[in-house]
Amino acid sequence: MPKDFLKHAKDEYDVVVIGSGLGGLTAANMLARSGYRVLLLEQHYKLGGMATWFKRPGGHIFDISLHGFPYGMLKSCRRYWTQEIADSIVQLKNIRFDNPMFSLTTTFNRHDFTKLLTDKFNVAAEAVEGFFDKARKMDFQDDQQLTTRQLFDEFFPGREDVIRLLMEPITYANGSTLEDPAISYGIVFSNFMSKGVFTFQGGTDRLIQLMEAEINRSGVDVGIRCDVKKINCDGGRVRSVEVGGRKIKTRAVVSNANLKHTILNLVGEEYFDRQFVEEARAVRLNNSSTQVYMALKPDERIEESTGDLLFSSTAPTFRTESLLSRDITSRTYSFYYPRTRPAGRPRSLIVSSTNANYADWASLSEREYEASKQDLIETTLDALDKYVPNVRARIDHIEASTPRTFEHYTQHVAGASFGTKFEGLQVSFDIPKQIEGLYHAGSVGIIMSGWLGAMNYGRMVASDVDNLLAAAPAHATTKAVT
Ligand SMILES: Cc1cc2nc3c(=O)[nH]c(=O)nc-3n(C[C@H](O)[C@H](O)[C@H](O)COP(=O)(O)OP(=O)(O)OC[C@H]3O[C@@H](n4cnc5c(N)ncnc54)[C@H](O)[C@@H]3O)c2cc1C
Repeated sequence: MPKDFLKHAKDEYDVVVIGSGLGGLTAANMLARSGYRVLLLEQHYKLGGMATWFKRPGGHIFDISLHGFPYGMLKSCRRYWTQEIADSIVQLKNIRFDNPMFSLTTTFNRHDFTKLLTDKFNVAAEAVEGFFDKARKMDFQDDQQLTTRQLFDEFFPGREDVIRLLMEPITYANGSTLEDPAISYGIVFSNFMSKGVFTFQGGTDRLIQLMEAEINRSGVDVGIRCDVKKINCDGGRVRSVEVGGRKIKTRAVVSNANLKHTILNLVGEEYFDRQFVEEARAVRLNNSSTQVYMALKPDERIEESTGDLLFSSTAPTFRTESLLSRDITSRTYSFYYPRTRPAGRPRSLIVSSTNANYADWASLSEREYEASKQDLIETTLDALDKYVPNVRARIDHIEASTPRTFEHYTQHVAGASFGTKFEGLQVSFDIPKQIEGLYHAGSVGIIMSGWLGAMNYGRMVASDVDNLLAAAPAHATTKAVT
């Protein structure tokens, strides 16, 4: 008999959260802390969504999306999670770039970038200051017509090398392009520039374990392997969700699932205004990724000067299309030294990531798909040899993932790694105006994606849900009096 993961679920909750990505987990935790009865439903067998990991024989643990996040995570983890989680956030100090235009190592913060831009790239100090100040002041209210290309042209006209330095890591970090609104670049870039790039010591497995313990303490009921099939709405309000053959009543739903999937499939377009449906349909998904996971033999070590994160490219100039092309010229390597998991077995791992188009992988036959994955592995090993000499002979385990893998594990439409393009933000914000009690909290609009963006969005939406439920007649809510 298959295990019934909903056995202990009640028939009714104040809030049902669909999906346990960092956005869903954070929303669930905050709402349960506020005293609401919360049910968290996750279709996969583990929590975390894209914030996940997998184990392979030999004591190897691979992180999928733990490459780097801004310092703001520390504050968010302390406020919305625990001091123990916040205390495990540590800086990655060696960020490297290696491409035909320049090779350098940086701590990736404003101070170091200012020095690099003025000393190495010979840019006037006023232009650098002006650029940083403008990027830092950007917020949602700003002009959305200004593109990132226009922002760069204002301060660094004709300087493709400077644009590459400033843009390549952000394109890698969230798929944004020179044609996207400058605010989506400015906000994310400034977040990183405040103090540099950070990681979670102990790995994603430890983070999610600690979060799971915390949501248990907060009183969240959790169902894994619980694929929500439908969000039922009636009379302009959310009423229930359908999962595992049960209908669970609820006064609010927070969907952490893909934005388009939530609107068009889980709810259904007939419950929204026509114009809203058109806007939702028009939202462009962000790109997906391929990754190659490599574990060195247990006694092999990587020289620490290789860096923590290495943005490598053989393309003569920076072009977004070439970052997405299957004919890969740009790879970002994350190096995981034994210090990544100080309490674990000392292992050295490398993950090579490349942005990718879903369409390039979706229609391949099984044979072509396997052959393409093998080709990705071989070409990655060829390219990596420059930084990790004789790498082929030192490898203990290697495998690859593609946009199809991300789609399979998270149900993200087209395996989008970072949700949607900018226009998804407004559509996500507007959902509760269409259906009372229905919210979306998950990667959208570039700004609300990534570990920090998704977590902060979960927190923001939890406040909105709290406002709605707290304003309802007293008999209708079970919120604890504190
Ligand atoms: C290869 C890769 C590398 C990345 N690197 C970084 C990085 O270095 N730094 C960074 O900050 N970010 C990185 N990201 C992005 C980051 O991981 C995500 O933006 C973030 O984790 C997304 O969180 P989320 O809350 O939007 O939910 P997601 O992680 O997208 O999770 C959504 C959850 O909803 C569940 N779900 C979907 N439909 C249903 C349903 N019907 N019923 C039940 N459950 C459902 C899914 O199974 C999933 O668990 C990376 C992503 C990828 C793919």
